[in-house]
Amino acid sequence: MSFTEVFAQNIELMAGIVYLVAAILFIIGIKQLSKIKTAANGNIISAIAMLIAIIITAIKLNIDNPAVIQWPFIIAGIIIGTIIGYFLAVKIKMTAMPQLVAIFNGFGGGASVFVALAYFLFKGDALLSNVDMITVVLSCLIGIITFSGSMVAFAKLQGLIDGQPIMFPGSHILNLMLAIGTIALGYLAVVQQATFSNAVLFLLLLTGIAFVLGILLVTPIGGADMPVVIALLNAYSGIAAAMTGFVLGNILLIIAGSLVGASGIILTRIMCKAMNRSLANVLFGGFGQHESNVSKDKSEYQNIKSTSPEEVAAILDAAQNVIIVPGYGMAVSQAQNAVRDVFHTLEKKGANVEFAIHPVAGRMPGHMNVLLAEADIPYDKMKDLDSINDSFKQTDVVIILGANDVVNPSATEDKSSPIYGMPILNVHEAKTVIVVKRSLSPGFAGIKNPLFEKENTLMMFADAKEAMAKLNTELKEL
Ligand code: NDP
Repeated sequence: MSFTEVFAQNIELMAGIVYLVAAILFIIGIKQLSKIKTAANGNIISAIAMLIAIIITAIKLNIDNPAVIQWPFIIAGIIIGTIIGYFLAVKIKMTAMPQLVAIFNGFGGGASVFVALAYFLFKGDALLSNVDMITVVLSCLIGIITFSGSMVAFAKLQGLIDGQPIMFPGSHILNLMLAIGTIALGYLAVVQQATFSNAVLFLLLLTGIAFVLGILLVTPIGGADMPVVIALLNAYSGIAAAMTGFVLGNILLIIAGSLVGASGIILTRIMCKAMNRSLANVLFGGFGQHESNVSKDKSEYQNIKSTSPEEVAAILDAAQNVIIVPGYGMAVSQAQNAVRDVFHTLEKKGANVEFAIHPVAGRMPGHMNVLLAEADIPYDKMKDLDSINDSFKQTDVVIILGANDVVNPSATEDKSSPIYGMPILNVHEAKTVIVVKRSLSPGFAGIKNPLFEKENTLMMFADAKEAMAKLNTELKEL
């Protein structure tokens, strides 16, 4: 017997072994993605796992069902998908990464719906077991909510629609009714499966209503909360894929979907915790909805001391330990390369310079790490909140570059503050604090920051990129 014949006869076993290898590679890949140093490697490992999973699945299908397999469609799909994926990943700007993730989640959810619907529509006369039918219903339900919700998230982040929370009276009741409607239709689709046309109608109605529900669930969420929602939608897309794995009886899809689902849920939890807000508050709270609540009154600040690049350069010239705290403003002004130049100049002068990164600095998880890594800041210079928070006491100068909420001491000092309890970087403990921002405007939370009034704080009112360029010039002249 030839090797091909032996292979064909044992295809179930071979596919099982390859799926196991792919699953292990997925787990290694995800583990490596959790550290900046190994993240790129983790990405490659996971991509290889996906590639071998696709190849073995295609071979298995070809052996099991040669008459049914439409190779031209499969190959065209792979080629078109690869080209689109490649160009999206290469061309995307780092600041537009949340939008890209939103689209990818949406596509994942949409694919689950198509697979589940196609499976049911083309199953022939055979009846599915109740469990199989429930997985078809759940695939459609979760998949379409992920799709429409992700599209709204994309549109908000891309500025195609207003980023403010859009709420109307009775929206929660309407959502509840739609959710009950989808459950009822799902139940009918399962119990009336024998009458094929009824079951198809119920499934399509369910998919349509859940599409609207996905939109209504995401529109009340403010643009700045979108990253949390994207992490959650990412979890949904994983759960939808796992459901599709059950529909198809594909163990690897169940494993991969569960990994995505679990990591999405963990990430959502980490982000909510770092903002000291509950998931319910993010999803239903309409945070940032009332512009009038936003503190923009500069007169509420007293004893503000402003400074200039010349003065800051002179202070830094004598500093031994310097910590730079990047925030959303650094991303907005794209100041990562300019701050890298300041970092090099200071290191050449003999100072020890580190970057302190708060878990929710910026507008997406890892936002600051990605931008600083792009500017070639060494990984070991980027410290997270827990590892650097005790160092501020021994720090000569802290430069806060376009950050605000993540260094607001009222989170620890003022029980009435909306951000009370949120872990912050204890920058106020340093000898001198330089805050670089354009005005006294608040950050995302919309509240006053008493740090600006502290005795040891100096405000450098400027765009982050311009400020860093001027500071570097001044430093070099000293
Ligand atoms: P903040 O939103 O608190 O503050 C950013 C500051 O940057 C503003 O005060 C603004 O002040 C300044 N800024 C804007 N543009 C520029 C510019 N061109 N040059 C200099 N400064 C500029 O950001 P943080 O990073 O401190 O905190 C992140 C906030 O986002 C937290 O409240 C967090 O909860 C929230 N969030 C984060 C998520 C994440 O995943 N990371 C997800 C959801 C929310 P000015 O206008 O005066 O210049």
